[in-house]
Amino acid sequence: MAGEFDLIARYFNWPAQGEGVSLSVGDDAALLSVKAQHQLAISVDTLVSGVHFPVNTHPADIGHKALSVNVSDMAAMGAEPRWFTLALTLPEYNTAWLEGFSAGLKQAADDYGVDLIGGDTTRGSQTITVQIMGEVTPAAALKRSAAKLGDVIFVTGTLGDAAAGLALAQGDSSIYASGEKRAYHDYCIQRLNRPTARTVESRIIRQYAHACIDVSDGLLQDLMHVLKASQCGAVINTDDIPFSEALSSLHPPEQCLQYALTGGDDYELLFTVPDDQCDGFIKAMSEQQLSCQAIGYITDDAEQIINQYSHLLTATGFQHF
Ligand code: ADP
Ligand code: MG
Repeated sequence: MAGEFDLIARYFNWPAQGEGVSLSVGDDAALLSVKAQHQLAISVDTLVSGVHFPVNTHPADIGHKALSVNVSDMAAMGAEPRWFTLALTLPEYNTAWLEGFSAGLKQAADDYGVDLIGGDTTRGSQTITVQIMGEVTPAAALKRSAAKLGDVIFVTGTLGDAAAGLALAQGDSSIYASGEKRAYHDYCIQRLNRPTARTVESRIIRQYAHACIDVSDGLLQDLMHVLKASQCGAVINTDDIPFSEALSSLHPPEQCLQYALTGGDDYELLFTVPDDQCDGFIKAMSEQQLSCQAIGYITDDAEQIINQYSHLLTATGFQHF
């Protein structure tokens, strides 16, 4: 048992920096204060080795990603991320792994300005669960169910990079070239292993958008969640889906599109903005040099997205319909 407490003290106990933490790691529970007029937003995500990341992923990347994917949920909710807990199941006390993991996690905590306020540590097959807590005013919360007829559909950043990175990380050597393409490969793998939660973008998006979701399972599947919750349809102009220079240099357009539509792990935000708010929104984003791209609009025909893309869904082996 001494080992467990030593492990927590050594790797997962650093001073809280934010407000709102009265009591952190070390007691039976943490004590937190939520700001007046705000609601507590809570979400949890588990990463299983070999399922959510390749088994040979660097521990610092795992630590960083475990927090980033959770912070991404806060960004998608329009919430300000504040605190997190960590439930860690490990097969052994591996100091090299723990050092790397802890460093990556701490780096992400600093990047996003969130505090580790507790957790649980057990022995077993490697599983990493992070629960994130954030604050949001009821008016700013970006629900999946809030898309409205005529809203313009936007995405942040670029899509498809992480899926291309996964193909590389899984050793698809047919597309792993040396020389000049190496930088593009590294970029896509970096996008897989070190996703950036779009917290900065979220602060602007929450002032303009109706509905929002983070793209973790591919554009189509995540868009479908919004459409289903909002009981509407959508038209997507596939020519407008943003690809990185790396992705479009490595792959023909159809392959880029397949990665973007049905790949996962991009952690960009997809959201809908009322038509008459778009000019103000685009201006606010560009003033902060934040990238976003309109890719379509919301319709009142709930069948529309499925009909329009049924050929692509079959062609790409997308199984959900
Ligand atoms: P309890 O027996 O009350 O559940 P634990 O022995 O599980 O307490 O944990 C002791 C303290 O260490 C608690 O404050 C808990 O939140 C914290 N803790 C345990 N594991 C971790 C971890 N992996 N990361 C951060 N804090 C942790
Ligand atoms: Mg416990």
